[in-house]
Amino acid sequence: MNIAIRRPTLGPDATAFLAKEHKILIDGKWVAAQSGQTFAVEDPATQEVIGHVPAGDKADIDLAVKAARRAFESGPWARMTPRDRSRLVWKLGDLLEQHADELAELEALDNGKPVTNARKDDVQGSIDMFHYMAGWSTRLNGETITVSKSDGNWHAYTLREPVGVVGQIIPWNFPLMMAAWKLAPALAAGCTIVLKPAEQTPLSALRFGELIVEAGFPAGVVNIVTGFGETAGAALSEHPDVDKVAFTGSTEVGKLIVKAAAGNLKRVSLELGGKSPAIVFPDADLDVAIAGTADAIFYNQGQCCTAGSRLFAHKSIYDKVVEGVAAEAKKVRIGHGLDPKVNLGPLVSKEQHDRVTGFLESGRKEGAEVVTGGKVHGNQGYFVEPTVLAKTNRDMRVVRNEIFGPVVCVQAYDDDDLDAVAKFANDTEYGLQASIWTRNLKVAHLLARKIKAGTICINTHNFGDPAWPFGGYKQSGWGREMGKEVMEHYTEVKSVAAKLV
Ligand code: NAP
Ligand code: MG
Repeated sequence: MNIAIRRPTLGPDATAFLAKEHKILIDGKWVAAQSGQTFAVEDPATQEVIGHVPAGDKADIDLAVKAARRAFESGPWARMTPRDRSRLVWKLGDLLEQHADELAELEALDNGKPVTNARKDDVQGSIDMFHYMAGWSTRLNGETITVSKSDGNWHAYTLREPVGVVGQIIPWNFPLMMAAWKLAPALAAGCTIVLKPAEQTPLSALRFGELIVEAGFPAGVVNIVTGFGETAGAALSEHPDVDKVAFTGSTEVGKLIVKAAAGNLKRVSLELGGKSPAIVFPDADLDVAIAGTADAIFYNQGQCCTAGSRLFAHKSIYDKVVEGVAAEAKKVRIGHGLDPKVNLGPLVSKEQHDRVTGFLESGRKEGAEVVTGGKVHGNQGYFVEPTVLAKTNRDMRVVRNEIFGPVVCVQAYDDDDLDAVAKFANDTEYGLQASIWTRNLKVAHLLARKIKAGTICINTHNFGDPAWPFGGYKQSGWGREMGKEVMEHYTEVKSVAAKLV
């Protein structure tokens, strides 16, 4: 099909930002990469170049880490009261809110995602994250400890201290929100940061950096270095003066991060891939389950680590579910993310487009039935049709691997025993999320206990809330982000014992 994709007009603020010469943020100053190199940023819907950003590498990471170390050890940030830190974190949330429409436009342009989703989810989620995490600054207490076996008089207690200089490496699927998930708790805890955005989507992080400076964070507290994973990312994860690295991205790179971190045994947290099951029981409200499981996979073009990519429907309702999800797929309006009527944009890059179309080809070869979709959309940009693959089974590549595109693999099941259901849900190396669709509360909560995943959704999918801990079992990661749990990532516990002599 020959479909011309035109870029809708941007608002004046996003236009002004795009026209700038982009720099990286080190020690409170906007600078070029030491090498002077830049790389192009592309609109994935039109394949037009929309800007160039510095290709930061080891030299820039070294400078950024030095600045972060200085800001951590001395100066206003190190002395700041929790109350004042909390105020700054809250203020950054307010600034995001003031610039929400501009940020949503930049996100839609750079990543391809629908601008309406960018505004209500990515940008709003980031605002909410800062406002929620601001509260933690003033609540990071140690404990007094009653010693258990030591004679005499003791005063024993713990202190909770910021972990130090943190390297944060984030992906392209939710560029601004991933920056917010990482920055907000680390700042609330009093850490200093070097952030490396994904090469495909650096723009919103750079605009965010301007707001960080405007909010009044002292120089060096947040440093933002755009660049490639193999150079800037690798330098950050192996840096001997970085105390902790927080990573979101592929499981493959997650394993590289672990190896790189071994040099100085820096703390590591990982939020990696998934192949999440959505399980529809015969008693489910099928209207809710069909709309919900379709959204679980087509939302954000399927580029969600939690995407409901393995759909299990009981055989008594299998045909209805397959037809229903296919009908939802056909309703999807594909186009440029900046068009407010669009609800499915392009994939983020040519690499991702090739990956997803490769999986479509392999699914066909392995005997999956293409109920709807299965093709690229148009001849420009990285669009792929929302696709339903039926008659899939556990051995197919499309079922085993994270596709990271709008492609759902449906399987029928005929077991009523919950252990059997949990067994096929758990038949994956991942364990990030699962959704259970039923009206039977006992079934829902018993199955929730049997599934090996960090997050379980009942009659919904892709749920998220700043107060709700999020992370993976198995190869989906280490540790939990958000909620109270994330503070474990960004603090160390120090135990003090005094003998009262
Ligand atoms: P990726 O390579 O894991 O990228 C994530 C981040 O890690 C990016 O900032 C990347 O930089 C950086 N990176 C890459 N190699 C590195 C290294 N050796 N050391 C340190 N940092 C490094 O993911 P991708 O290549 O963009 O996507 C590949 C697949 O990963 C996707 O198809 C999908 O299956 C999965 N993925 C999962 C998530 C998730 O949220 N769980 C998010 C994105 C992708 P560059 O941008 O320069 O590569
Ligand atoms: Mg990569």
